[in-house]
Amino acid sequence: MILIVGGAGYIGSHVNKLLSESGYETVILDNLSYGHEEAIKWGHFCKCDLANISDVNKIFEKYDITAVMHFSSFIEVGESVNNPQKYYYNNVVNTMNLLKVMLEHDVKKFIFSSTCATYGIPQKIPLTETHPQNPINPYGRTKLMVERILKDYDSAYGLKSVILRYFNASGADESGIIGENHNPESHLIPLILDAAIGKRENIKIFGTDYDTPDGTCIRDYIHVNDLASAHIQAIEYLDEQNESNEFNLGNGKGFSVREVIESVKKVTAKEFNVVEAPRREGDPSVLIGSAKKAKDILNWDPKYTSIDDIVSTAWKWHKELNKGLL
Ligand code: UDP
Repeated sequence: MILIVGGAGYIGSHVNKLLSESGYETVILDNLSYGHEEAIKWGHFCKCDLANISDVNKIFEKYDITAVMHFSSFIEVGESVNNPQKYYYNNVVNTMNLLKVMLEHDVKKFIFSSTCATYGIPQKIPLTETHPQNPINPYGRTKLMVERILKDYDSAYGLKSVILRYFNASGADESGIIGENHNPESHLIPLILDAAIGKRENIKIFGTDYDTPDGTCIRDYIHVNDLASAHIQAIEYLDEQNESNEFNLGNGKGFSVREVIESVKKVTAKEFNVVEAPRREGDPSVLIGSAKKAKDILNWDPKYTSIDDIVSTAWKWHKELNKGLL
């Protein structure tokens, strides 16, 4: 049985769906602080907080857990700068609690959601896994700390891990029954979709003076179900007794903020206001990942390579989520 920590969240719920459809039994651990109970449509659910080690222990006693996937971290860069304590406690200390209980129960397979934010300012694009990791904000540092902890726990305790460094997770399951629903929302595509349905007055472009062809930031958008399939391959990889490893998960293609806005206009056939705003602190101009290693070693094969296809799936979900407003 696979334990999905944070399975009520955006990426965790998509992984839960895919694991369940692929024949895996799942247990979801989530404290519902940001996740949504409606998103847990598969597997067993345990409402539990990683800060409470004895509750986490009970889950490991109750279920025959063979591997753990860990999605439950805080993800707001700006908030991590203003309130680092919140981030170090949840993203690092609570992860150590989880690892402690795993070791006590001799569970030694771990898939960790890391991020391209661990690289900091890119020296070379596309980013490969060997690029130096110098995160520029507490959020990125919490993720890098866990990466380092995992290396030490492997050496000392034989805990095997696959670290997956996501680029910009986006889109939603084609079914339209689960998708992105952050509160507050800070991600580009759902914010543009909010502007398209009139829930927001406009979409602000954070910075138009970057050293990019149209002056706006370029990101590598990767579909959430492509991320999900990499998790299945990562479990299979660990099941084959492979060594711990880390992989970038991105499309290897970048789209600027303006290009994403144009895609939303095309897909939704809606007009909305676009406002040029100052840069957001801590945003590198270009983040594009090379996923060659994941393709070669995990046989990962992302299906959504066009931004319009990604935006279309996000739009389907967004309409469902905001039914009352349309
Ligand atoms: N962005 C923007 N306006 C917004 C939200 C985001 O221009 O209202 C930009 C942001 O500066 C970045 C890109 O869109 O260049 C993607 O931002 P997001 O927060 O979605 O993901 P991140 O790259 O920070 O992980």
